Amino acid sequence: MKQKFEIAVFQGDGIGPEIMGPTLDILQKLAQKSEGYGLQFHDAPAGAAHYRETGESLPAGSLEIARKADAILLSAMGLPDVRYADGTEISPQIDLRKILVLFAGVRPVTVRKDQRSPLNMPAGKEIDFVLLRESTEGLFHTQGRGEVSATEARETLLITRDISEKLFRFAFALARTRKENGRGRGRVTCVDKANVFRAFAFFRQIFDEEAKKHPDLSADHAYVDATALWMVQKPWEFDVLVTENMFGDILSDLGAGLMGGLGLAPSADIGLEHALFQPCHGSAPDIAGQGVANPLAMILSAALMLDWLGIKHDNRALVDDGARLRIAVETVVAEQRALTRDLGGTAGTIAAAAAVQEALSL
Ligand code: NAD
Repeated sequence: MKQKFEIAVFQGDGIGPEIMGPTLDILQKLAQKSEGYGLQFHDAPAGAAHYRETGESLPAGSLEIARKADAILLSAMGLPDVRYADGTEISPQIDLRKILVLFAGVRPVTVRKDQRSPLNMPAGKEIDFVLLRESTEGLFHTQGRGEVSATEARETLLITRDISEKLFRFAFALARTRKENGRGRGRVTCVDKANVFRAFAFFRQIFDEEAKKHPDLSADHAYVDATALWMVQKPWEFDVLVTENMFGDILSDLGAGLMGGLGLAPSADIGLEHALFQPCHGSAPDIAGQGVANPLAMILSAALMLDWLGIKHDNRALVDDGARLRIAVETVVAEQRALTRDLGGTAGTIAAAAAVQEALSL
């Protein structure tokens, strides 16, 4: 019997609709061929262009679609010239994380054999780690509410026991699943700045408490500055890295750089009830409307969604299709079948997505 899943779709701004279209096409074809699941998509208008037209960035109706859905797919939102009166940008993707308590920002970083990377990879080495970014508090706590006077500006960093416990529990569960699937050694590294800030000493203490509950996995610590260095010098040694919101924000772009660019970097924002899947990149207004945007990060995010839905609902067909979709993208990239401009090729968005379909024999 086919299990049915409702997916909220935020097409977003800039290149958003250009990369979402071919992604939904692939998902639709996979679901049609599958005997194990079906997918129904529901459009949820939101974003900077929507704000410019209507004065609303995240309408209540769209939030309701997201709340009711089994999973949320989002391309990218925001346009640099559309701002609130206080000068900050429209960013419903960040609002959704907070409203739906999507505390675990999952940012996989993979570089397969033969894939181009700015690093000089030693022979036989592959990169396969996950950066886990806390996504609801940290230095983003006072986002939009920072105090600014003529002479000083203040933002507050917040680390709570409640969210940190949930985050670390998620990190160890993820490391266990990766170990079982042969993708990791069962190691979780807490990335912090506990040598300088009390808030990070607190963060580390909660990490250590959780680590004690998982004697089958290994746990260690690293300072964020050293982690940035090691991500360049020996990234193949990492398994699961878990860190605060702003540190994760910065390190995940470094991770995207290792993979060859933002166009290959997927992400998932996961909570206890809801989960949202989106590429790490933004709306790329500089190339919007040209048909040259790389759709692969969006497609890889959709693969993460299939995997998450499959694990949550104990649906093998979804887990298998998630893996097939990820491997199809990795094959297209490693064999340089139809690379877009950002990866050094000449293919357009549609051709790159078509190469993934071909690799899947859809
Ligand atoms: P960006 O990620 O949109 O673009 C940075 C650079 O990467 C640009 O040169 C762009 O052309 C390129 N790029 C990004 N995605 C690409 C893709 N799929 N294919 C090919 N090239 C790609 O970052 P930005 O320019 O700093 O931000 C643009 C807008 O996006 C801003 O309004 C920003 O607030 C918003 N933004 C949204 C998200 C999100 O929705 N999650 C994330 C980051 C930025």
